[in-house]
Amino acid sequence: MAETLADLVVHNARIIDSTGGDAFEGSLFVKGDEIAAVERGPLNGNPSARATRDIDARGGTVMPGMCDGHWHPSYYDIIDLTKLDLAPIEESVIHGVKHCQLMLECGFTMAVCAGAHYRIDAVLRDSINNGEIPGPRVLAAGRDICPTAGLTDWNPDFWKLGLDGLTMVCDGEEEIRKAVRKNIKQGADVIKLFVSGEGAIASCNQYACTVTKRELEVFAEEVHRRDKFASTHVRDRHGARMCAEVGVDIINHATFADDETLAIIRDKNLFIVPALGYIFGVFENGDKFGLDDEFRRNTDAAADRDHGCEVIRKAHQMGIRVVTGGDYGFAWVPHGSYAWDLELFVKHMGFSEMEAIVAATKHGAELLRMGDRVGTLEPGKLADFLVIDGDPLADISILRDRSRLRHVFKDGKAVAERGRPACHCEKVPA
Ligand SMILES: [Zn+2]
Repeated sequence: MAETLADLVVHNARIIDSTGGDAFEGSLFVKGDEIAAVERGPLNGNPSARATRDIDARGGTVMPGMCDGHWHPSYYDIIDLTKLDLAPIEESVIHGVKHCQLMLECGFTMAVCAGAHYRIDAVLRDSINNGEIPGPRVLAAGRDICPTAGLTDWNPDFWKLGLDGLTMVCDGEEEIRKAVRKNIKQGADVIKLFVSGEGAIASCNQYACTVTKRELEVFAEEVHRRDKFASTHVRDRHGARMCAEVGVDIINHATFADDETLAIIRDKNLFIVPALGYIFGVFENGDKFGLDDEFRRNTDAAADRDHGCEVIRKAHQMGIRVVTGGDYGFAWVPHGSYAWDLELFVKHMGFSEMEAIVAATKHGAELLRMGDRVGTLEPGKLADFLVIDGDPLADISILRDRSRLRHVFKDGKAVAERGRPACHCEKVPA
């Protein structure tokens, strides 16, 4: 490498390469869209002799771009869940485009979607990949699949409203099979099925299991036939067991999963995305939005939070890959709060700072089935990385402070600087 002129070198950096090893002082070299080299120790010789551009990280940190494993780009910070389906498509698209840019500004270069209005996610993904709008690497979700009387089948029949954009209400093998195929036709990578209810929905709470084993089997079989990602919203114990047995790729929440279920998840190498930001947000910010003590009591929110954390702590100890992703996009956990998840992993779920970063980077990339291309800082991988003021291993919460995200790079190009779109005219500090 010493002889090759790179396009960029970031030196004087604390490097977290996310391979699981300790952080070290060193330099990162980028050539084109790839990482050319990661060197340990002080930079050999003059930076400008080694690269056309150089960034002095001045004791800051370089780490891979992060992943949100449970993202809803088309949701826009609404308060009432049942209004989700009433969001007009035009506004949803505009907000989706805005949130794609915001992701980058927050240091997130990967996202796995968890349910979309219409085919918005697929359009966002294609527009990003075609270079039409800035955004992370996206696995697009389709419309949710939900059985009659399940979580999102919340409109009373006498309203004669149905569910138009958010959900396909399906029962039985053939309807579920067809809904999976429809989603694939509309461009979805991730197809999500509602297995359990949710505390906020009185008629179908978190303890309700709303599908049969056979429906789940058909769902997973059909998704896997086309090599897509099967994803479920599941909280109740029985539903979690069925998701594990059937081999759902992305198990969201898993709130009341028992130890035997976790053992199956580990043996099958499935992913869990806890999405606990949503629940912690109900406690921290809920009062501002009418989600007060009474709401928390009625919805058994403390059980979701406490059991959820306990299950994730165990899953992590067992070696299950748990990926960050907090269901951000509701009023009490707005878009832009994405990095709060790493803090919650450390404070409440038994992760060290380094383990939380590995979960958000290496394991996130593996969730996208891109572990060979991104997620760690190694030669030959795509240059998706952050240059941060400070040390997230000493204080993980600095990742939430966009003003400390000095640079965000994707594919070797600057895409955001200090929480703003990258300004290519800015003079690069020597
Ligand atoms: Zn969600």
